Amino acid sequence: MCEHCVTVQHIYLDHAATTPMRPEVREAMEPFLTDSFGNPSGSHGVSRRAKNALEEAREQVAELLGCRPQEIVFTGGGTEADNLAVKGAAFADGVGGVVTVATEHEAVLEAAAFVARMGGTVRVVGVDGAGEVDPAELAAAVDDDTRVVSVMWANNETGVLHPIRAIRQAIGDRVPLHSDAVQAVISEDVTTADVDLLSLSAHKFGGPKGVGVLYVRDGVRLEPVLHGGGQELGRRSGTHDVAGAVGLAAALAKTVEDRAGFRARVDEIRSSFEERVRSVAQRTVPVGHTLIQHSHLRFPGRRNETLLVRLDQLGVAASAASACQSGATTVSHVLAAMDV
Ligand code: PLP
Repeated sequence: MCEHCVTVQHIYLDHAATTPMRPEVREAMEPFLTDSFGNPSGSHGVSRRAKNALEEAREQVAELLGCRPQEIVFTGGGTEADNLAVKGAAFADGVGGVVTVATEHEAVLEAAAFVARMGGTVRVVGVDGAGEVDPAELAAAVDDDTRVVSVMWANNETGVLHPIRAIRQAIGDRVPLHSDAVQAVISEDVTTADVDLLSLSAHKFGGPKGVGVLYVRDGVRLEPVLHGGGQELGRRSGTHDVAGAVGLAAALAKTVEDRAGFRARVDEIRSSFEERVRSVAQRTVPVGHTLIQHSHLRFPGRRNETLLVRLDQLGVAASAASACQSGATTVSHVLAAMDV
């Protein structure tokens, strides 16, 4: 590495992969990583302190998402929340079908593939060149065997937003609608109003890694993915990560509080950045139906690998695909679905 390179300030352009933890989140978690270490499922005072903190975190998350505390299930992250939504709904009553979209995160697509291996009918609806899905096409894919429709709020690679309300209207109430809002919640007004199942992951909005939430509308039946002691009203067994839940709630509160300011600030930074690279790069999808924080660019005539290695040497952290695919040499399934 050249002398200049090591002195270049680190520039982190990979918040879709993960975000740094907010200081107030670390502070909120600290007691539960040290003195207040109790298992919330116990019955003595040490446990009760942990249980109270866990239930306060649940109430706070529920209020921020516009639902009831008992509708919040704490999970071990976004991948687990997606698996519980897709497999849980598909297997709630024998083996049922799944309808989803070609550009979903692997956590949804692989969960759906598992349902197919177990004998369920899985229909994967395509997108157009702009990464958008047609609500009518989704509705047409639903039949009597369908147990869940899963459509992400916004795509993790391109930032394309899906019309959740229009999708709800198109499919009606006959089947539960799941949305993976893992990437969207930091900048979009994500609520539970139009969905029956909703996934979040704390580390995408300034919280800790390895903790997430699945909102489960009252009355939606799920077969658990993790069986055991019956925590989370039997929907997710396993000793609670109290510090993680407290951290997620604190991060979500700060996210919602800061959202308008974040949108204004990041929108300006993103447009100014894109303006500066305009002579060498073009956006894959136009600004509009996309997350304000996503800059998905194509650099004609340049190879991803070369560009990313060179950027890394210059202290710039960026990605050419989702973090779970970044080591892969194959084309991203999201871009392939868009015919890019
Ligand atoms: N869904 C989306 C859209 C994501 O971007 C990610 C993370 O990359 C996940 C799910 C998985 O979340 P986690 O990293 O918490 O397992």
